[in-house]
Amino acid sequence: MALKIEVDFDRCESNAVCMQVAPKYFEVRDDDFLYILQEEVDAGDEAAAQEAVDRCPKQAISLVES
Ligand code: SF4
Repeated sequence: MALKIEVDFDRCESNAVCMQVAPKYFEVRDDDFLYILQEEVDAGDEAAAQEAVDRCPKQAISLVES
């Protein structure tokens, strides 16, 4: 079963912590908004995705089983 990344954009403050942890999946662009580059978590990237969840200071990221 694959994991899918969800972000509550109402909570996100675009501080790019998730981008530092998992740049394959998260990018804060020059417009100061966070973009999810890929929603489905690839095999082997689960720990990095979970670290992004754990380190987000706004608790804005969720991993859901899809
Ligand atoms: S770490 Fe959380 S608050 Fe920061 S950009 Fe990522 S989702 Fe938004």
